[in-house]
Amino acid sequence: RAKGDGRSTFRFFEPAMDLQMQTRRTMEQDLRKALPGGEFELYYQPVVNLASNEISGFEALIRWNHPKQGMIAPASFIPLAEEIGFIVPVGEWVIRQACVTAAAWPEHLHVAVNISAAQFRSPGLMQVIVGALAASGLSPTRLEIEITETVLLQNREATLSVLHQLRALGIRIAMDDFGTGYSSLTYLQCFPFDKIKIDRSFVKDITENAGSLNIVRAVAALASGMGMTATAEGVETSEQLDTITSEGCTEMQGYLFSRPLPVAEIERLFLSRRETPGRIVAA
Ligand code: C2E
Ligand code: MG
Ligand code: MG
Ligand code: MG
Repeated sequence: RAKGDGRSTFRFFEPAMDLQMQTRRTMEQDLRKALPGGEFELYYQPVVNLASNEISGFEALIRWNHPKQGMIAPASFIPLAEEIGFIVPVGEWVIRQACVTAAAWPEHLHVAVNISAAQFRSPGLMQVIVGALAASGLSPTRLEIEITETVLLQNREATLSVLHQLRALGIRIAMDDFGTGYSSLTYLQCFPFDKIKIDRSFVKDITENAGSLNIVRAVAALASGMGMTATAEGVETSEQLDTITSEGCTEMQGYLFSRPLPVAEIERLFLSRRETPGRIVAA
């Protein structure tokens, strides 16, 4: 298309815009039906303690089994759910479901739940969490809440107040995707997080990129100095595992150990570990 031909460019894009809006509207309608339709499912990814080589817990990760489109990843619907406020009921379902599921696991295992910014701002969050713990019988010390820097970006005072209330209950707080947002260090100073999850983007090229290696090294040292767990996300190769271990990370999560798994497979994992202790590499 010729540059400067604004009018025809506009006309050219108009049908595409309509289609995008239509797709969005359909998705929005489908999303509202998904909860009553029982189309959401939680998968669980093991988190491994690098000192003991044992699973310390699992992160709950939502999946949408769309009746026509099949399995949809959270990146494709969480942003829209946030925008239309639908993340609040979905998030509530996630918390309740994760607590009930984890209550049936061996007692030393924790469950981590992701809480998005819009959900964190919703006034009923504390009640939902307290209610889910009471209904499931899960000890608060086995629940971990993952938030990103975005949550602290807006409404810092209100956010800190909720974080302190959660902490007072014995719930652990992790900062997720560390290094991808803004003012990370300031946030670490304003709240004593239990855990920093180093974003996958740094782990991905840690063996080739000195910059990424330096960031992982610095964050692991920072975590250690502040008494926090340093978890490396997205570990896919044994070289990455060796590097994050020698750089001082204390936990790992990634496809090398296991992908996120449906509940039934988690239970099978417990059984197989009892029979053959040691590291499992589930593909
Ligand atoms: P996250 O919390 O940072 O979760 C880690 C993501 O990395 C997951 O993607 C996981 O499947 C993926 N992952 C783990 N190990 C590897 C690896 O070795 N290689 C690669 N390439 N990927 C790996 P997933 O499940 O698609 O979730 C994406 C994001 O969606 C999550 O990022 C989280 O921000 C959000 N999310 C997931 N479940 C929920 C939920 O229940 N509520 C909210 N609010 N957000 C959620
Ligand atoms: Mg997470
Ligand atoms: Mg993460
Ligand atoms: Mg992430």
